[in-house]
Amino acid sequence: MNCTRDIDYGPWAGGANKGIMARIKMTEVEVAVTELAEINDDERWMQYAMTLALKAQEEGEVPVGAVLVLDNQVIGEGWNRSIGHHDPTAHAEIMALRQGGSAVQNYRLLDAILYVTLEPCVMCAGAMVHSRIRRVVYGAADAKTGAAGSLMDVLRHPGMNHQVEITAGVLADACSEQLSAFFRFRRSQKKALRLAERAAQAGDIISDNPKE
Ligand code: ZN
Repeated sequence: MNCTRDIDYGPWAGGANKGIMARIKMTEVEVAVTELAEINDDERWMQYAMTLALKAQEEGEVPVGAVLVLDNQVIGEGWNRSIGHHDPTAHAEIMALRQGGSAVQNYRLLDAILYVTLEPCVMCAGAMVHSRIRRVVYGAADAKTGAAGSLMDVLRHPGMNHQVEITAGVLADACSEQLSAFFRFRRSQKKALRLAERAAQAGDIISDNPKE
């Protein structure tokens, strides 16, 4: 007995097309499940990238984190280290791509997906094109320097010999808040420092004044 005959395919599938229609239906379901799984994975990996961004913050760097994933496995991690490394190229994405290349022993990172908490800059977008990654997923958009559609679109430029798929705005609010909180904190630190310096200067003037 063929078990598939017992399945109720619904009124849309009948006669000679029954088997084909069933396969089409199954394919649609599988695609939908895959898409849902990818969306969930995207959020999960973005959360992971946010934890890497915290490492940057702990080192006094702008909190941007990136994770490079191939076949659902981490092959590279990165966070902003430009200040600490005295290296203008030490962005989170570059660090993750370098580690990924080293992990797979190949400068081409075909089919890899890069998750980054902030829209990549021109340099990082260029490196992604060179690496041939399949897709980039970013959190917060960057209107001033974003090269994945905000300021310009390097990744999908028609003249480029490789196009990188873009998924924008995954956990955008959380990623944006992580950056905003950092800049708020840094502004308050600078203000406190200025006030302390002024107070110290005022103290010096008072103590230097012979009439006092
Ligand atoms: Zn960058």
